[in-house]
Amino acid sequence: MGNAVGIDLGTTNSVIARMEGGEPTVLVNGEGARTTPSVVAFKDDQRLVGQVAKRQAVLNAQGTLFEIKRFMGRTWEEVASEVERAPYEVVKADDGGVRFKVGDDLHSPEEISAMILRKLVADASDQLGEKITEAVITVPAYFNNAQREATQNAGKIAGLEVLRIVNEPTAAALAYGLDKKGSETVLVFDFGGGTFDVSVLEVGEGVFEVRSTHGDTHLGGSDFDYAIVDWLAEDFQKEYGVDLKKDKQALQRMIEAAEKAKIELSGLPETTISLPFIAMDPGSNAPLYLEKKLTRSTFEDLIAPLLKRLRKPVEDALSDADIAKGDVDEVILVGGSTRVPAVKDVVQEMLGKAPNQSVNPDEVVALGAAIQAGVLKGDVEDIVLLDVTPLSLGVETKGGVFTTLIERNTTVPVRKTETFTTADANQTGVEVHVLQGERSMARENKSLGKFKLEEIPPMPAGMPQIEITYDIDANGVLNVSAREKSTGKEASITIQNTTTLAEDEVERMVQDAERHADEDAKFREVAEARNAADSMRTQAQKILDETESATDDQKQPLQEAIDETAKAVDDPNVEKDRYEELTQALAEALQTFQAATAPAEDEAETADAEATEATSEGDEDDVVDADFKPAG
Ligand code: AMP
Repeated sequence: MGNAVGIDLGTTNSVIARMEGGEPTVLVNGEGARTTPSVVAFKDDQRLVGQVAKRQAVLNAQGTLFEIKRFMGRTWEEVASEVERAPYEVVKADDGGVRFKVGDDLHSPEEISAMILRKLVADASDQLGEKITEAVITVPAYFNNAQREATQNAGKIAGLEVLRIVNEPTAAALAYGLDKKGSETVLVFDFGGGTFDVSVLEVGEGVFEVRSTHGDTHLGGSDFDYAIVDWLAEDFQKEYGVDLKKDKQALQRMIEAAEKAKIELSGLPETTISLPFIAMDPGSNAPLYLEKKLTRSTFEDLIAPLLKRLRKPVEDALSDADIAKGDVDEVILVGGSTRVPAVKDVVQEMLGKAPNQSVNPDEVVALGAAIQAGVLKGDVEDIVLLDVTPLSLGVETKGGVFTTLIERNTTVPVRKTETFTTADANQTGVEVHVLQGERSMARENKSLGKFKLEEIPPMPAGMPQIEITYDIDANGVLNVSAREKSTGKEASITIQNTTTLAEDEVERMVQDAERHADEDAKFREVAEARNAADSMRTQAQKILDETESATDDQKQPLQEAIDETAKAVDDPNVEKDRYEELTQALAEALQTFQAATAPAEDEAETADAEATEATSEGDEDDVVDADFKPAG
């Protein structure tokens, strides 16, 4: 048996597991607990990790770091709301990321996460009597590339070889052993301390296929805690005129008490929150007590707006997977917050069936990660994992149009090839601009990279056959290649992690596309009409230039129509109808011109070949932005 482990590096708690006798098993920590709080504290030159760190948090509010996962791989600008909420000090780093300031020391999120990983691994190694060096670490499905990299780096800092970063819902489905059943549609409802993920998986015959994923990276059980804290603080302020949230120690104590009350309310109809000596009376300087009864129904009122936010991601995940709620065979609950009865009610009501909770929701992800580690080490066989593209992938074509090659939510691995051509005569290069998104306008989508295909032999516009291939492998790595068919000349680019995007980013881009659907349709129509006018203009100019026998009188009307079209093509305010008129007028002028000059046709053809040769040299390095278009 290998010594590779699976680690759920959670926002609130972390869990480590490994395969033992063919079964995934949680490894207990040094304190004998199966979950370890993801908390690190610095106190009197001492570093504390886990339960001991959590326990002293009240007395050391500024030196205790928790919910670090929210900061992993994120920029300062992205974490404004987290920074505001944190009782510890967060500062902007020179690289645009964040650092935690404790005393005079600055710590990165990766370093803090590495401290948590180190404890998990050290405790597990002690227990097993052998050193653990390899791990599979899980992340929320929508962690973007930077967040995944940060997690991988945390593993490296902790001295681990990270075998793979695995999505949490996939790990959960693995732990449920659903692959051993027949084909099923599974909805994974993962509601932990800091994140909420909904995934629809298609499972069967050893294959896990993630059909869709949605969620909310800013919604977790800690928001329930903060809702209680706000309620406590508001009442306290009304009664005593003291804002407890301004006092970092009082805030930390309230957060802890709120979480405890919340957990109690999962089993009891009411509880009492009691915080002695929480503040001093500003008038009398006497100590103030906070004591309040919280019933489950008041708690449910407090979290009602948060519960409401659970709905849309579920609806979106179903609709993206193209299924109705009745098509879901199994609902799996993951994360401690699914223990809240009101959360279970929402799930049951929305999906019309009781969720499966037979595996402990706190441990299920780590158990699945252990199975994945087993798969990678060859201890577990017959499981294949598939993911989907969260957004459409395509290329920028003439007129700034986004042309899709792979639709969003396509299962990976996937390979798609389409043929494009040049927009201008004798064009010797094209720039392939790879984008991701749902908008018709390329500039509104996310740019993933650009590369050039050069040394295309000079040919008339529309002649070269440029095959563009998008190839996404099982890890979400996209390889885009362009090949000019007559010469076999190729160029390509590799883009990492196209299947992993921040949930809010995907959400925003999809919503943007919906909101701008009409505008985009119009943009596309105008672009198409403009492209048609422009290619008619190029063609007409070429014929005109090559018809040497034509008289000035014959040339003039056609040249005028060409010039007028050229002017319109450069004008961004011209409408579709106007382009169509110009194309029509140009076609007529060209027809008249050709009829008048018809006897000279043979000579023109010879001239054509010569002209091509003559211009080709000068155009050698002429690579033009998006000057290519779908062929045919
Ligand atoms: P996880 O990220 O899966 O470790 O989930 C942690 C979150 O679950 C924290 O916000 C906990 O307060 C919450 N949690 C754990 N147990 C319970 C419970 N019995 N009832 C309600 N919330 C819980």
